[in-house]
Amino acid sequence: MHSFNLPEDVLHILTRISDCGYSAHVVGGPVRDFLLGNVPHDYDITTNALPEKIKEIFSDLRTVDTGIKHGTVTVVLNGENYEITTYRVDGEYKDSRHPESVSFTSRLEEDLARRDFTMNAIAYNPTEGITDPFGGEADIASGVICAVGDPEKRFTEDALRILRAIRFSSTLGFYLEYETYLAAKKLGHLLLNVSSERISTEWFKLMGGRDAYRVLEESEEIISVFLPELTGIKLPDFERFGKAPTPARHLSLFYLTLGDSAAPSYKAAMTRLRTDARTRDLGTLALTCIGKFDTGTREGINLLMADFGIDAVRLTLETERLVGIREDKSFDIFEELIRTRAPYRTEDLDLNGNDLIAIGYRGSEIGKEMRALLRAVIEGRLKNERAALIRSAKETFNG
Ligand code: ATP
Ligand code: MG
Repeated sequence: MHSFNLPEDVLHILTRISDCGYSAHVVGGPVRDFLLGNVPHDYDITTNALPEKIKEIFSDLRTVDTGIKHGTVTVVLNGENYEITTYRVDGEYKDSRHPESVSFTSRLEEDLARRDFTMNAIAYNPTEGITDPFGGEADIASGVICAVGDPEKRFTEDALRILRAIRFSSTLGFYLEYETYLAAKKLGHLLLNVSSERISTEWFKLMGGRDAYRVLEESEEIISVFLPELTGIKLPDFERFGKAPTPARHLSLFYLTLGDSAAPSYKAAMTRLRTDARTRDLGTLALTCIGKFDTGTREGINLLMADFGIDAVRLTLETERLVGIREDKSFDIFEELIRTRAPYRTEDLDLNGNDLIAIGYRGSEIGKEMRALLRAVIEGRLKNERAALIRSAKETFNG
């Protein structure tokens, strides 16, 4: 029998539920992670106790009705969230989106049967060991992603599972079982029915995966359903892609596939997928900058940091390096500027607005002079020393 090293708090939750006469297991992601020899990042728990009963059992702790209609209560223990979900079977699906209804069941096997892949349909607790009715452990051992039940039916019920299949293929380095693969190819268009938020979560996980390159090569048809911008997708060098951070990987696809229209297309795509504003705006800015920085000098890079901010410059340089249009020392220079805390914001100057007000500057003149001083410092015309900065500001003010 398997014995997994569950954290104290998880054991406490399982024990407390069973002491009250109910059954509780860790399920899905964490069990898969254990079998892979990885450390789980969170612990979902499945139980035959109804949500109201779970709230009663944990009435001394903070609980949140996360998805109480779907049977999920979040219990907060020592600052960590644990989602506890009552065994359930999903009702009929309409539009490849959500089940019309869910109902609770008292059988663990039925709860496992509604889960997407055999590797995610395994439950575990320390007294009963593993419950694995669909052969998930064997599939994990052979690195295979296999739908629970009939893949066409399961993907038609909820098309997000198609994207989850290739996402797991990327993050785990697994391959799709043949019938599952055929169904994914056939039904990929159903992803049009899935909400943007659900898509983008899976898409960014896919992009960060160890086998993202292979999956991008194999799955263009599926990806272009929700990112038609990437039809005819072009990929950068394999080795470089493997080393690049996820945001640069992502931008490289747009840059290489779309050329001059990369920035506006990226922005439109990220708006449609409802990604966070930072991912959207920083990426758009970086795509606008790629190939436009003609300088690899210390001063040049420092000025770019002042104009665009360090995050945009880093992302631009990383993406440029990935797509192979910058072989110079810019990145090293950039990192050295960061390490040596070279000034690039007006806040980094050794004087502040009040000093300028004391000289006589007013209103928008203050910011304007601060930026002029910063530029002079970056260009080496002025030292970042208070006395020198004040002298220069006085000279400007007086003439
Ligand atoms: P990760 O490590 O990325 O969190 P995970 O398997 O835990 O992977 P979650 O999205 O957290 O993924 O889902 C938790 C569990 O819920 C899954 O393991 C699976 O059993 C089930 N599940 C999630 N999404 C679906 C879905 N669309 N259809 C069926 N079952 C699903
Ligand atoms: Mg999870």
